[in-house]
Amino acid sequence: MQLAIGLSLGLLISVLAWRTGTLSQSGAIAATLSGGLVFGLGGFAWAVLLLVFFISSSLLSRLPLSGKRSVGEKYAKGSQRDWGQVLANGGLGALLVITFTLSPEKTWLWIAYAGAMAAVNADTWSTELGILSPALPRLITSGKTVEPGTSGAVSALGSLAALGGSGLIALCAALLTTWGSLDQTGFFLLIAIVTIGGLSGAFFDSFLGATVQAIYYCPSCRKETERHPIHICGTETNHMHGWRWINNDMVNFACSIAGASVAAGLFLILN
Ligand SMILES: [Zn+2]
Repeated sequence: MQLAIGLSLGLLISVLAWRTGTLSQSGAIAATLSGGLVFGLGGFAWAVLLLVFFISSSLLSRLPLSGKRSVGEKYAKGSQRDWGQVLANGGLGALLVITFTLSPEKTWLWIAYAGAMAAVNADTWSTELGILSPALPRLITSGKTVEPGTSGAVSALGSLAALGGSGLIALCAALLTTWGSLDQTGFFLLIAIVTIGGLSGAFFDSFLGATVQAIYYCPSCRKETERHPIHICGTETNHMHGWRWINNDMVNFACSIAGASVAAGLFLILN
């Protein structure tokens, strides 16, 4: 019964997101399934974290901030999310909620979920807001200054945005943690653990973006891009660096795994 309600709620939100152009059709189907599982099996607490991520990142990607348009084309896809992007961000959450339903005594699964959501939220916030950085970003590997929007580039503003995105999920997770033993120390410890997990995931995402992610080059625009095979201008793009089979969705999925692992790992060590 709860699963049916969850799936209906997932469907309702996905249709709304599809109608407003936040999700593509395939993205809406993937969001109905992954969101429905999280709502239906996880209940209120799990649903809130997913919604905080989904709503805040959708709003940020639609903000008409000056100068953003020129950089947006560098990314593989526009602001409309397809199934690959939805599962890259929410797929691990769906797997974790299924595992948690089968073994509810494993409380660390909730922390892993919070870490995964903190990571993808941190990554989205830093991508959307980091572009507004007045200073040129630097490549996370070499420290060399690069054009805004380059995969693997980090800036002070982007890192601050990542901290905000991660911290917001961590705060919600701490407020929604229902087990009785969470005293004041436990409350702040949980916020710290999830925030660190989320930040680790976001920096891991940048690291993969600078190293193994497939990056292409558009000869007519003379620009680096994640788009392949066809650039936004219609020209075919050439492989520049990174492994061809590692696209942005896989990097985002790895980001959520890193966030979950660091948060759950810290939780298990400290408890
Ligand atoms: Zn082009």
